[in-house]
Order: sequence, then C-alpha cells, then structure tokens
Amino acid sequence: DNTTSELAASIRSIPDYPKPGIIFRDITTLLGNPRAFRRAVDELVQPYAGTKIDKIAGMEARGFILGGAVAHQLSSGFVPIRKKGKLPHDTVRIAYSLEYGVDEMEMHRDAIEPGEKVILVDDLIATGGTAVGATKLLRQIGAEVVGACFVIDLPDLGGRRKLEELGVSVHTLVE
Ligand code: IMP
Repeated sequence: DNTTSELAASIRSIPDYPKPGIIFRDITTLLGNPRAFRRAVDELVQPYAGTKIDKIAGMEARGFILGGAVAHQLSSGFVPIRKKGKLPHDTVRIAYSLEYGVDEMEMHRDAIEPGEKVILVDDLIATGGTAVGATKLLRQIGAEVVGACFVIDLPDLGGRRKLEELGVSVHTLVE
C-alpha cells in the first residue's frame, strides 16, 4: 500500500557494504525525512495502541532512535540494550550469534521489574540472532516480552520465524 511504498522509498540501499555481496539497508534517509520518520513510528506503535506497555527495549544503536520515539508515543519507559562494556551499573549479559561469529550484549539488571510488559524495537531483523539474544536477556530478568517490531524484515534470513518460535509476536513494516 501507500505507506509501505513511501517507507520503502525512503530507505537507501548500499551495495557491497560492509563487505562485497551484501546490500546494506540504510535507514538514515528515512530518519532524515520528516514524513517518513513520523509514518514509521506511527506504524510501529499501531498494534500496541491502547495496551499498557511498561518499557521499550531498544537495541544499540538504531534501536535507540526508533525505540525512543516509540516509547514517547506509547508513554512507556525506555531501556537500552547495549554492546558489552558500555553500561555503568550492574548488568546482565548474554552471548548472541552474528552472521560471522558471536558477540555479547548487556542491559542494566534493575532496568525492568519482573512481570513488566516490554516491546523490543530495532531497525531491521535479518537472521534474528540479535533479537533472540535480547529476548532471552529480557526474560532472564523476568520481563514479559509482549512483542518485537522492526522497520525492515529480511524474510529470506528467517529471523522473524525464530522469534515467533520463542513465542514473541513480530510486527514489521517493509520487506
Ligand atoms: P540479525 O541479528 O542477523 O537479525 O541482524 C540484525 C541486526 O543487525 C540489527 O541490529 C540491525 O541493525 C543490524 N543489521 C543487519 N543488517 C543490516 C542492514 O542491512 N541495515 C541496517 N542494519 C542491519
């Protein structure tokens, strides 16, 4: 439809970045376009309108930008999930798989109370390694992961299905 094509047109594709053969989907052009940014946030929050969501968990770094806007719109708190070593207080940490290799992500141990309802936000889901790691981390401290939303889904990489298999409902705007 209209919204989808407008959003898709606002995303820039960069061939051979970060390495040959990869097409990088660059959302800085979406963020810089006032209409597209507003649309994207409006569409991201749409399934959760009228639901009480305690916290938005945003993935470093583009999930911070979108997640902050989503949190404002849903009147929720915001919790950053970061690469290891960046958060100053007591953290919980989990290893997660990247396309090539593994890394670790962290959040503050006291960022979420047990039973709080949380939505995960990022710009893009590919293999799902990042979002699956974040879901496990959130559940480890007792969060109820109500859903996850992304501007872009790369369906061939299967991330959406992996998250759904964990019982997380997934909302995306553009394939
Ligand atoms: P996954 O863990 O394989 O699902 O990869 C998703 C993570 O990598 C997200 O945090 C994305 O921001 C990032 N990512 C992977 N590919 C792209 C891309 O083409 N554009 C923007 N971010 C990407």
